[in-house]
Amino acid sequence: MLRKKLPFLHSLLSPVSRHVGHLTGHQYDVIVVGGGHAGTEAAAAAARVGAETLLITQKIHTIGALSCNPSLGGVGKGQLVKEVDALDGLCGRAGDWAGIHFSILNRRKGPAVWGPRAQLDRQRYRDFIQSELLSTPRLTVVEGSVEELLVTEPNPEEPGHHRVTGIRLANGSHAISARSVVLTTGTFLSGSLFVGQTTSPGGRIGDAPSSAGLSHTLRERLGLRTGRLRTGTPPRIVKDSVDLSLAKLHLPDSHPTPFSFLNTHTHCKPEEQLPCYLTFTTPGVERVVRESLQLNCHIQQDTKGPRYCPSIESRVLRFPGRSHQVWLEPEGVTSDLLYPQGLSMTMPPDIQLRLIREIPPMRRAEIHTPGYGVQYDFVCPTQLSPALQVKSTQGLFLAGQINGTTGYEEAAAQGLWAGANAARSALSMPTVTLSRTESYIGVLIDDLVSRGVTEPYRMFTSRAEFRTSLRPDNADLRLTPKGFEEVGCVSSVRYQESLRVRNSLQDALTALQALFLSTSSWKKKLPSVPISETKSTLLTGLDLLQYNDVTFEMLASAFPESLSSFMEFAQRLKIEAVYKPHCDLNKKEIERIQREENMSLPQDIDYFSLPVSLSDEVREILDRVRPSTLGAATRLEGITPAAVVNLLNYVRVTE
Ligand code: FAD
Repeated sequence: MLRKKLPFLHSLLSPVSRHVGHLTGHQYDVIVVGGGHAGTEAAAAAARVGAETLLITQKIHTIGALSCNPSLGGVGKGQLVKEVDALDGLCGRAGDWAGIHFSILNRRKGPAVWGPRAQLDRQRYRDFIQSELLSTPRLTVVEGSVEELLVTEPNPEEPGHHRVTGIRLANGSHAISARSVVLTTGTFLSGSLFVGQTTSPGGRIGDAPSSAGLSHTLRERLGLRTGRLRTGTPPRIVKDSVDLSLAKLHLPDSHPTPFSFLNTHTHCKPEEQLPCYLTFTTPGVERVVRESLQLNCHIQQDTKGPRYCPSIESRVLRFPGRSHQVWLEPEGVTSDLLYPQGLSMTMPPDIQLRLIREIPPMRRAEIHTPGYGVQYDFVCPTQLSPALQVKSTQGLFLAGQINGTTGYEEAAAQGLWAGANAARSALSMPTVTLSRTESYIGVLIDDLVSRGVTEPYRMFTSRAEFRTSLRPDNADLRLTPKGFEEVGCVSSVRYQESLRVRNSLQDALTALQALFLSTSSWKKKLPSVPISETKSTLLTGLDLLQYNDVTFEMLASAFPESLSSFMEFAQRLKIEAVYKPHCDLNKKEIERIQREENMSLPQDIDYFSLPVSLSDEVREILDRVRPSTLGAATRLEGITPAAVVNLLNYVRVTE
């Protein structure tokens, strides 16, 4: 289902898209503010659900811009991309179109925690997202800066509760009404840019910040708690000025794996993929950082930055004397620039040049654009419901970096969910939630709304308790039916395809289970496989597929009549077989929690000394709330399913 070519973008941009005056007084179901990774998914999802949607963003040509790294996916993040795709979102297909170097990270570990990742061509990614949005039915895209949210006075019967009614554009000129508004202002809310000792207002280099009026509405009018976070980006380096022969060549996978369940191949042919290069910092880098600290405002601030994507200044100061990895990544097929991942920095430009020239392949390098930092406001996400709606303001949804996350994937995932819910709310349908047991998106949202953030939040596989069930390969089976049947954000084409896949996988598993042979018969069929005699004397094909050295292809060649029609799913079946015991166990645990909903929890329990695996945070919540039943504990914000299982086991044993 990969597109052959993109339509010429200007032909999609009606003049209307740039002039908003005539929209004054118009009522939309949903208005999405911001055309970044959250906003684009939100707008497209709202329109797919059936809402008349307006996307307002500062500049149409920056829709879908990759503000920092030209890459998508990775460990934990790749799972989010697959789930967004399973819910018919854009980023997976955009990644398949724009990818120029595909690799599966974490391959040495099990497929549950593999991280699909691609290096992207920035321009192609932007073109794809813009072309998709500008041709989405029920979606209008306009250029403008939103200055203020229009909200009703609080309801006297529900003090502090407002309802959003629309937005006002900058200069107080135009007001546009909507039943729901999704705010996705990214790093722009009261944004300030930092280079050396210079600070200037901005949301991203070349872009003005979101006006102070918007922060004012959120804080003063709606009484929302906000905080301040920061992030930074490396300088972009002129490719021809770098001696790549001094860096280690890193090749992509020879067979690129598409992100999207609808694609069987990527736009970039395997042999056309571009390599990346690995190099390392030297002691000279640390010296330059230390000598220039007093010239670096950003690093002197207390505001928290992304712990897992730190600046070179933070890396050097936290781990003195170490050599740090620097990846030199292409920015696009025709781009003359390299992105030095690992060298995010905010010192003055002349010192940035001195620093990069301390790294052997960059001894003569030239900087095209200096690195810089950005600080911005975020809204404490504990003030949101699991539908990403502000609890105290009916119809107002928030998604992306504004909720304290970092990363395109985290933004896209929230955007899709907030957009779908904003549409449902506007169309008088109940909002929907995703649980931690069914998706990484559920884990992400639950973490945000129940725990909040103290530093930019990014996704990791370790955050998902049921990660063996929440695999990248099965996101379609987990989410596409729900997206179609319950949410309404999935097209019937994708739904039908997911049903075909689900039924075929089910038929294949049944066929594998029907191959019920003695170990000696299996040995004759598969002489190269060391089948242990200590195992059961009778084994099914599914049992055998769980062996490390047995592939589905081997079984299909031994039993072509029953298995060869499923060859398309060979890898998925292997993964299904390997994880089946874990998934069955997870399923049983979840069902057990549901069955034991009414089990009483002793009221004198000392949660702080319980000899079971519970985090300090969970113990503190349980101690404070003292839920009377297991069901009540399950519904507490911040209590994970894994914690409930441990609690259940403890109470059952001590009864
Ligand atoms: P954005 O992509 O920022 O999009 C916000 C959109 O809203 C923009 O289109 C903007 O024009 C629009 N907008 C804002 N205010 C208004 C308004 N009032 N009216 C209309 N439109 C408005 N992520 C990482 O994972 N690792 C990193 O190291 C990293 N470094 C970064 C460094 C920098 C300098 C920047 C700018 C970003 C960095 N990011 C990093 C963050 C990454 O870019 C974001 O996580 C991601 O883009 C967030 O998506 P979003 O949709 O929430 O916001």
